[in-house]
Amino acid sequence: MRVMTQGTTLTHVFGAAVTVCRVCRNSCGYCSFRDVESDLMPLEKLAAEFIGFAKAGAIQVSLVSGDSPHVYPSIQFALKRESCVAFSEYLRKGCALAVEAGLLPVVEAGALDPFDVQTVSEMAASVRFSLTAAGLHGKGEAHAEARNRGPEHAKGLIEQAHRSQLPYHLDFLIGIGETEAERHEFLRTVGTFCGADPWLQDVRLVPFQPIPGTAMSGRPPLGFEQVAAAMRVLREAFPVHFRAITPHLFSRFAELTGHGLNDLGPLPFLTGDPVMSGFPVPAYETLKSRLTEHNILLSERLPLTTPAAENRGSMTPTLAAARNRLLNRDQAKIKLIDDKHCFVCGHRNTQGLQITLQKNDPGTCSTVWTSGPAHQGYAGIVHGGILTTLLDEMMGHAIISTGILAVTAEMRIKFLRPAPIGFPLTVVGNRTGGRGRVHLAKGVVMLPDGTVLAEAEGRFVEC
Ligand code: SF4
Repeated sequence: MRVMTQGTTLTHVFGAAVTVCRVCRNSCGYCSFRDVESDLMPLEKLAAEFIGFAKAGAIQVSLVSGDSPHVYPSIQFALKRESCVAFSEYLRKGCALAVEAGLLPVVEAGALDPFDVQTVSEMAASVRFSLTAAGLHGKGEAHAEARNRGPEHAKGLIEQAHRSQLPYHLDFLIGIGETEAERHEFLRTVGTFCGADPWLQDVRLVPFQPIPGTAMSGRPPLGFEQVAAAMRVLREAFPVHFRAITPHLFSRFAELTGHGLNDLGPLPFLTGDPVMSGFPVPAYETLKSRLTEHNILLSERLPLTTPAAENRGSMTPTLAAARNRLLNRDQAKIKLIDDKHCFVCGHRNTQGLQITLQKNDPGTCSTVWTSGPAHQGYAGIVHGGILTTLLDEMMGHAIISTGILAVTAEMRIKFLRPAPIGFPLTVVGNRTGGRGRVHLAKGVVMLPDGTVLAEAEGRFVEC
């Protein structure tokens, strides 16, 4: 089914993910990540990876590991090799390397204990916790061979992050055997518990997918309706937060926006998702064009979203650098999506002028508009900025009426006479020429008797 959404925006974080250790003391039935034979990634190698990610434009990097790998002797040896006395120290050093490279580090390392959380909080930008709505520790169930999984652990993890003033992200793993009632109840309970916590950054649904070779490879995934219902409950539980879903459901993003999806979370464009390696993360351009088909704008954001998180002293320089990078990238790419919220002609913008454009001939655009008291500069006179805005709009649409999408590069205005408030003003724009990607236009504002109040010339560049 093709879904046309009305000018929705989906945010995302440009990220990378690096597997620091696949060793895990648990063995969850759905997991394809765990590998107890694997090594700890040397910090030196980690540093080189981070530099590469930063050069490629990533804003954040996730350091992904299994739960408590240090209980294995092989990892104890590896920690010694890296001059670390604890796994949390290794994570802290890894985070420091990420910060040095200019990346915001996010720790995704299972159920960290209070000491670990305190240690990583010194250098991590944030931590990501994976929560489940049911324990499922029975024989043949998802967590038959796992500890620290289930709803009873959620509160403790959140409290630890809160106490350490460490920003956190919550993943809700759904569809692993919990009932729909348990799932919804859990989302609501967590929302009530920490929805107002300034350290909570965003939430994400992680619908289970059967992966060949895992104990639960034969279990069917949730149907779309169940995922959509969970998304609606997520919206109800976290009404003001960024609410994401994992990238493997990317073909359903557009539909899910109607159920509460407003974010795509961290998209590891550079590395793929190590936790679901069998499901490729779509390329940025693919994702963008797919969403554009549905009139959805893809917009980049920072991973830290609350003032509490943004003002943590340890992250200030990295965050400022990330913000600049994001801004530069944003400005370099002009994304033109008409979501009907244009200040001048957008009929969905209740604070805008909501004028009607008349495009009777290609290369021409006009309108008749009557100002009100809210549009004045000096008493009784229409503000010059409003006239400029109208002229810009008419000239721009005169060019657009020829089938060319262009944006304003330059404008020159002559204000000839004051425009009185409350009089119908005729504003006309005409395309006057151009060369290559540059188009020229002229505009004029007139009183009903033809008296010219302002004239403009503009240069527009094709996108
Ligand atoms: S899902 Fe996480 S906790 Fe469970 S086995 Fe895999 S790495 Fe360990």
